[in-house]
Amino acid sequence: MTTHLKGQKMFIAGEWISSEKTIEVRNPQDNTIIDLVPAATVEDMLNCLEEAKKGAGIAAAMPVHQRMKVIHGAADYIEEHHKKFARIIAMESSKTIREATKEVGRAIQTLRISAEEARRITGETIPFDQSPGSESRIGYFYRFPIGVIAAITPFNDPLNLVAHKIGPAIASGNAIVVKPATVTPLSALLLAEAFSFAGLPAKVLSVITGHGSEIGDALVTHPAVRMITFTGGLEAGEKIVSKAGLKKISMELGSNSPVIVLEDADIEDAVESCVSGAFWAAGQNCLGVQRIYVEKSIFKSFQSQFVERTEKYIIGDKQSELTDMGPMISEKEAIRVENLVDEAVEKGAVILTGGERNGAYYLPTVLTDVPKDCKVAQEEIFGPVVLLYPIADLDEAIVLSNSVNYGLQAGIFTKNIDMAHKAIAKLDVGGVLVNDSSDYRIDAMPFGGVKNSGLGREGIKFSIQEMTETKVVCFKLPGQ
Ligand code: NAP
Repeated sequence: MTTHLKGQKMFIAGEWISSEKTIEVRNPQDNTIIDLVPAATVEDMLNCLEEAKKGAGIAAAMPVHQRMKVIHGAADYIEEHHKKFARIIAMESSKTIREATKEVGRAIQTLRISAEEARRITGETIPFDQSPGSESRIGYFYRFPIGVIAAITPFNDPLNLVAHKIGPAIASGNAIVVKPATVTPLSALLLAEAFSFAGLPAKVLSVITGHGSEIGDALVTHPAVRMITFTGGLEAGEKIVSKAGLKKISMELGSNSPVIVLEDADIEDAVESCVSGAFWAAGQNCLGVQRIYVEKSIFKSFQSQFVERTEKYIIGDKQSELTDMGPMISEKEAIRVENLVDEAVEKGAVILTGGERNGAYYLPTVLTDVPKDCKVAQEEIFGPVVLLYPIADLDEAIVLSNSVNYGLQAGIFTKNIDMAHKAIAKLDVGGVLVNDSSDYRIDAMPFGGVKNSGLGREGIKFSIQEMTETKVVCFKLPGQ
């Protein structure tokens, strides 16, 4: 296997290109430099987009069987180099090797589903004769590719979230330019290598590395870009929307996810699921469990089991198979979380376990008695911190769950089907998981939020709908 990771190259329109300025990619565990990647300039971005314009024509002309072959080929390549992909994720990001290995498996699935969905991009016939005067017309609609797609991705799933952009874009015959998070560009470059190896025609895909603050505007404002698919934080998302102009926009943003545990739930199962959901990837997970509302009668028992399970977590070296949780993505991010917890404690919150920082590591932290006006209660923490609240009943839990400005996913643990249905109907979110925490997703399901959690849906079939337009065709038949 050839690798392009060393040597400061980015993947522009099928070529591996270096640039004068570089960016150091660091391992958040010990801040050591693990690689250098190019810091693309605005000029690089504009050149890349000119190539992508040509790529759009090439991508649209690829027959479906060829798209499928290339995407399956990229998935095969990842399968073959599974360990290398996992090691890179566990070096550049916060993830432990176990978490990284799982992400690689999911990225393979994301691509395989994309290849399969390519053959299901269909249209419908339209009964034009429903409209008086149109009896002599017949027709149909089909879906066609949108053209050039700009994809901007975050650090927390540096491979699979990029696969969620590239897979459906190619499946639906589009060209795509990906700008991965500056702190985790290596996994995205490896994915470009997989597509190049699989025979994707040049110009259809670019992975351009550089700071969003420097090259982001050139990408999102470019008239050739017909769609922006962004996954990241609210602040960057809002900036992009305000600048993008008349383009399709898909926004996968953050959340402050609630889980409700009713008294008839299997407590052990709920604890296990919520602990994992709160501390997966050191809590840097858009679906992460942030607020848990537990019925009063079982609150004490739930709380003690939750703290006991949390304290068993093994924190340490990301490359060790034994480690449950690694560091946050940077010391700066860990300090941000520490400040949020300190603010809550000053206002009366109680730390049941955790609350300590060492460099980029922040211990898994369980809080209770958190006043509702604290930032940890209202905003997205995006760190290993979870809040426990006793509630009187489901109605109260629903009101509290909906009281924040986010709505990605929510979980409810209960054996009562009526309670489950009530929660499904009343929770203001994009997905409700019954007897799972908010942190459950498969790559084929529709995924996205309401309120500040985003616009549009991902999940391959749903991304393909966003990445295509419909064209109506109508034949007026002679002499009828
Ligand atoms: P972020 O700071 O918003 O960055 C995300 C991406 O946007 C990065 O590639 C970043 O580039 C780029 N960017 C920043 N400012 C930009 C601008 N003005 N123009 C164009 N691009 C710009 O987010 P993050 O810290 O990497 O990720 C964490 C966030 O992502 C959390 O809020 C999390 O909830 C959210 N997320 C959502 C989902 C979902 O599916 N709903 C999934 C995962 C994560 P640089 O790296 O160069 O700054």
